Amino acid sequence: MAKPAAKITIKGLKCDADGCGFIDPDAPCDESQVGRACPKCGASLLTDADMANVRLLQFVASALNAEVGPVADEAQYVMLHWRTDGSGNLKILKIEEEE
Ligand SMILES: [Zn+2]
Repeated sequence: MAKPAAKITIKGLKCDADGCGFIDPDAPCDESQVGRACPKCGASLLTDADMANVRLLQFVASALNAEVGPVADEAQYVMLHWRTDGSGNLKILKIEEEE
């Protein structure tokens, strides 16, 4: 058995407006959400700039899988926790090995 070398799991949207704090933990992070207004403050929950970062990360995972190919099921994933802020900035918050 084998599994993909890289995979991306993106789940939920968080409002980036100062002091808002709205979170929709179950929202998909895809094109359908671009420009969706925050129900609490009206700011965009997913900007075009953030969606471009999502596409970039998906491209990187796809390119890695095409280059490296499947890896053994025993191989450990390294998890990158990241966030965007609506501006197009992409910040890696944490890097950890899969449990
Ligand atoms: Zn908000």
